[in-house]
Amino acid sequence: MIDLHAHTLASDGGDRPPELVAAAAAAGVDTLAVTDHDTVAAVAQARAAGERLGVEVLAGCELTATVGDRVVHVLLYGGGLLEPDLADAVQVARHARDERNRAIGERLERLCGVGYDDAVRVAGASALSRAHFALALVARGAVADVPEAFDRFLSSGRPAYVPAPGVSVTDAVAVAGKAGGVAVLAHPGRLATAERDRVLNEALDAGIDGIEVWHPQHDPDLRRSLERLADRHGLLATGGSDYHGRHKPDVHIGTGTNANVTVPADRLDALRDRLTSG
Ligand code: AMP
Ligand code: MN
Ligand code: MN
Ligand code: MN
Repeated sequence: MIDLHAHTLASDGGDRPPELVAAAAAAGVDTLAVTDHDTVAAVAQARAAGERLGVEVLAGCELTATVGDRVVHVLLYGGGLLEPDLADAVQVARHARDERNRAIGERLERLCGVGYDDAVRVAGASALSRAHFALALVARGAVADVPEAFDRFLSSGRPAYVPAPGVSVTDAVAVAGKAGGVAVLAHPGRLATAERDRVLNEALDAGIDGIEVWHPQHDPDLRRSLERLADRHGLLATGGSDYHGRHKPDVHIGTGTNANVTVPADRLDALRDRLTSG
């Protein structure tokens, strides 16, 4: 089984790197890519665990990028991402994130008295994201549940929303190139149909190497059309569970029973052929 999209505590997942790999092993995953948001900090530990548990761990990350005023995610794969200068390039968006998180905290503080420090406490060792602001709002009784936190405060267009800062898709592709790796547009299905074509075109213009086809949020029709698009342009087609541990309890690691996230073995071979190191 192949799962090329998973998160740890180094970003907004719920598992420490060895826990993630243990969960993958238990689910029957042979090849796992660790793809935290804007960091490769968990990869080395995950690899060590992978060696013990018989799981091949590919180095990756999920970069926050922007197309116009849209935030899009670009998955990078390649062992070269662990080189110190590239690891720093990967983290660029991360530094800008702290300012953004403080801005969200200020807005929430004004709106309902739940602020930055509350979210930091919830996040613990994880990189702070809107998911933690949502949990803090629930913990403090400002909203009943996480969906309400997003609907009332945190989603795009709501009063505490501040867009995540990101690099351009061109820059994301360049980082992948320097790493001897590849850049893949993550879950295009998360975009509204009208925006999807614009983002796909921009990604193609930027020299993107692949498209994430298999994802929990992609239905069969979308998977088929994305796979055709990838083939038409000679691009890689990848996929994975987008596992976040307990932060997204409905999402399970591995791809066994979920056709949406089942990556065919030949697609992994094609990815491997493009990586100069794992
Ligand atoms: P950020 O990267 O800080 O913008 O936050 C993204 C996090 O918020 C991810 O973990 C998302 O899954 C989560 N998120 C975004 N929108 C929603 C939503 N409507 N309901 C629940 N979680 C969401
Ligand atoms: Mn996430
Ligand atoms: Mn994503
Ligand atoms: Mn993800």
